[in-house]
Amino acid sequence: MGSKGKKHSQPAASTDAPGKTLPQTNIKTKTKKAEQQDSDRYALAIAANGDGLWDWDLASKKVFFSPAWKAMLGFSSEEIADSPEEWLGRVHPDDIRGLEVAVDAHVRGESPRYVGECRLLHKDGTYRWMLIRGMAVRGPNGKIERVVGSQSDISHRKNMEERLQHDAMHDALTGLPNRALFVDRVQGCLARAQRRKNYLFAVLFLDLDRFKTINDGLGHAVGDKILIELSHLLQACIRPEDTVARIGGDEFTILLDGIEDLNAATRVANRVLNALQVPFPVAGQDVFTTCSIGIAISQTGYERPDQIIRDADTAMYRAKTSGKARHQVFDTSMHERAVKLLQLETDLRHAIDREEFVVYYQAIRSLEHGNTIGFEALVRWIHPERGIVYPADFIAVAEETGLIVQLGWWVLYEACRQTRIWQSESGSGVPLAISVNISCTQFAQPDLVHNIIGILRQTGLEPSSLKLEITESAVMSNPEAASETLLQLRALGIKVCIDDFGTGYSSLSYLMRFPIDTLKIDRSFISGMGAGINNTAIVQTIINLAHNLGMDVVAEGVETAEQLEQLRTLNCEHAQGYYFARPAASVDAIAQARP
Ligand code: C2E
Ligand code: CA
Ligand code: CA
Repeated sequence: MGSKGKKHSQPAASTDAPGKTLPQTNIKTKTKKAEQQDSDRYALAIAANGDGLWDWDLASKKVFFSPAWKAMLGFSSEEIADSPEEWLGRVHPDDIRGLEVAVDAHVRGESPRYVGECRLLHKDGTYRWMLIRGMAVRGPNGKIERVVGSQSDISHRKNMEERLQHDAMHDALTGLPNRALFVDRVQGCLARAQRRKNYLFAVLFLDLDRFKTINDGLGHAVGDKILIELSHLLQACIRPEDTVARIGGDEFTILLDGIEDLNAATRVANRVLNALQVPFPVAGQDVFTTCSIGIAISQTGYERPDQIIRDADTAMYRAKTSGKARHQVFDTSMHERAVKLLQLETDLRHAIDREEFVVYYQAIRSLEHGNTIGFEALVRWIHPERGIVYPADFIAVAEETGLIVQLGWWVLYEACRQTRIWQSESGSGVPLAISVNISCTQFAQPDLVHNIIGILRQTGLEPSSLKLEITESAVMSNPEAASETLLQLRALGIKVCIDDFGTGYSSLSYLMRFPIDTLKIDRSFISGMGAGINNTAIVQTIINLAHNLGMDVVAEGVETAEQLEQLRTLNCEHAQGYYFARPAASVDAIAQARP
């Protein structure tokens, strides 16, 4: 640093206007000589760091730039003169204002030192991030004479920071904005909607149909490729001011910023659905995918981003359940339904913990002898406020949430226990049998057979007294696994019945390959029997088929003497229905069954 400080002999303390000068006490009380020594040491330290130096003399309006300072911007010593313009003229236009504010604050004595970051133009035409530190040096009258300081290149650190910031806001696979950035953009739109009366925006929620199948079947690399292709496709369907984000595995969202009406949103949805008609060429093959899209529009006073995203998600779910490959616009009834379902799920979890369930029993009669040969176990929920709740109102939710498995085990245990008690009370004769409904989810449990054996042991019920009622879909959704399970059950002597027979789509010739003991004819065929010749013919066909395959038949939902008579003539073995007995609590059910 040059010896630019003016000579003076007055004590430093008297030269400082209180509160207006450099607040560092050591500087305040130092002599000019000591100050000079300080700045020389500072210069040495900076040079050792490889930092650049500058020293701005306000009187002469000249700035000394050290060779390191110039080299930092790609210039040799001779290439840069000593005017302030050499510096200020290179500052990035966006950074000038911040620099001025910070420098002013320091010059007014509000900050002990100037420290700031700004971009400077390099000789190669790019901007480099610099950390600039500076300190005003005041003369005897308190007036600033010079400003001295250092400069270091922090581009590397800055780029890293920018990179980190970008990564925190973007999805690594597709490079699209992630959930955090999407939420942030929705927040911006919400603010705009509050300021401007006619401003509308929409959120689209997209979920690929069958993505899991693609991933499992073709491998994750193909799955990833499809997600990347899809991200390009989605970006091609929107305007530059809109945002596409990937917010989960195969979940994407689109923010339409400023639209005229709902039609604008459904148009985008249709554009996406149409674009997906063309297959993705991935790994040498054409892969077709479809997606389900939910749309929520900003009309109804949303306050937080998660609310509109949630509603778009709810609508997407509805699009899925009503057949996939389509879009669905959110309406408030969906929200009410979603809330109700959520409440039901919570209640159901509590109900399982608190054992609010009872098993009802409905008699199954022999049509030949008229006696009760067994019961079907039918679960009831004794709700503390709503009273008896029927399976129609909770089994679907229990299935969807997987709670059915736990509930199913409880019903099986309870039904076996009760049947064993009845058997021991009645003494000799053919023991009563129990039919228990097993949901698809439960039937697919790998530990099914093991658990059933455990329950039979615990309750002391013979395997031959137990019949499992499963539906066609339990068998057809995974025929190989089902076949294995059914063979194990047969080996144990446990019986299996196909419930609601006739309502599924399975091919009968296929079904007959499985070891099944009973067909239970669905109620809809029985109730139509008296009315038309057709239903009677169907029932007859089912009964003949079953007999040819060595199975017996139960007719369910028998309500009239006429139906009973017809079933007898058709040689149906067993029947069940309100005509004989309604499902009832164990005490009542057994009382009705005993002669
Ligand atoms: P499902 O297995 O077909 O059971 C027969 C249903 O028909 C029962 O309804 C029964 O009360 C009713 N029903 C019996 N006879 C007649 C009749 O003559 N007329 C009429 N209209 N209906 C009759 P519920 O008890 O409401 O059960 C409905 C469904 O819920 C059952 O259909 C079954 O699929 C399911 N479910 C019931 N309990 C359980 C269970 O413990 N586990 C599983 N997974 N599902 C169960
Ligand atoms: Ca059943
Ligand atoms: Ca049934």
